[in-house]
Amino acid sequence: MMTSDVRHLSGAEVDRHVEDAAAYVHIPFCSAVCPYCDFAVVAGADDRIGRYVDAVLAEIAMSPRWRPLDSVYFGGGTPSHVDPAHLRRILDALASHHGLANGSEVTVEANPEDFGPQRASELFSAGFNRVSFGAQSFDDAVLARLGRRHDAGDIEVSLANARSAGFQNASMDLIFGTPVERNESWMATLRRAVALEPDHISCYALTVEPGTPLHRDVKAGAPAPDPDTQADRYEMAERILGEAGLGRYEVSNWSRPGRECRYNLTVWAQGEYEAYGNGAHRFVDGVRSHNIRRMDAYIDRIEQGVRPISGSELVRGWDGEIDRLFVGLRRSAGVRPGPGVDALLGTRGGGVLRHAGVIDVLEGRLVVTRPLLTDEVHRQVLDLSPPQGWVEALERDNLSD
Ligand code: SF4
Repeated sequence: MMTSDVRHLSGAEVDRHVEDAAAYVHIPFCSAVCPYCDFAVVAGADDRIGRYVDAVLAEIAMSPRWRPLDSVYFGGGTPSHVDPAHLRRILDALASHHGLANGSEVTVEANPEDFGPQRASELFSAGFNRVSFGAQSFDDAVLARLGRRHDAGDIEVSLANARSAGFQNASMDLIFGTPVERNESWMATLRRAVALEPDHISCYALTVEPGTPLHRDVKAGAPAPDPDTQADRYEMAERILGEAGLGRYEVSNWSRPGRECRYNLTVWAQGEYEAYGNGAHRFVDGVRSHNIRRMDAYIDRIEQGVRPISGSELVRGWDGEIDRLFVGLRRSAGVRPGPGVDALLGTRGGGVLRHAGVIDVLEGRLVVTRPLLTDEVHRQVLDLSPPQGWVEALERDNLSD
């Protein structure tokens, strides 16, 4: 694996985001549902946008007041599909309910076909200062296969509109490994993407999620993404993006120095984040919880005056330590030492991973040195048992409570 010589964030720089307060807002509306998508989205439901926004505002009002937010992330779905006035109402409600910290990062996800000059200015003046485009590819044949509604030219225009409107922080998502894609077209996509000088690029392998139209097509005989090809394309991304001055700071994320996504850094540092909207996930006070996924059921629950939480899990003690490794090992800077790291390195499976060069201890931190095998490391982490001393210490703590 080639690595870029771009400076990576240090362990201390990534770990400090455990102190951040963040919030996620889910906007589920899309103009059509892409065949590979398994997010909580709706298409053809624009008549319910106003009711949904009212529900999100009510959910914010129901949630406990918190400290000023260091980052806010409007994801989806397609937030840019919705009138910016709606998004402004939600952002204003978050600012008055929790507050926004000085210099907070406020991201809006956008699709290139929605991002004309007026929408770009309205979103910027509403308070968004970072935009993340669902670009996916600069190969129009790949975009068509992915069911996208934009072409490569729209990506260039939308990024220019963002810059003209005042956005100094712009990101784009790319997808690699669509069966119609070739090495040359992926290389061309990477080169056209970096030529636009975005601050941040995320690259994801196309995955076939159960229940999606793509899954049904593949089961019916359509070509599936090939993992070996995808591994090659990932290495191409690592090389091209590194040469362009973008450093990888997480399995799928590259940025210019200082332009890492603060919201995501908070999540991976095991920091706290509130969440609003259908299907949204939060982590507050050591509890991971999520909202009702179906939009109509979410709205109904809120209109009955009840918080729309559909599941929760206490993440403390050993579970908290496993969770710290699970989220933190996605980062290039890995995780600081701790009982979970000792446990992993002490198992046979951990030893095999280290011997195979998949994980290593660098500058005192456990890091995944072959990021494409992060899922394998995660499997080992989830299988770990607490060391004996840890169990005894927990029992002592419980007795003295
Ligand atoms: S635009 Fe994004 S969120 Fe909407 S259906 Fe397509 S992939 Fe899913």
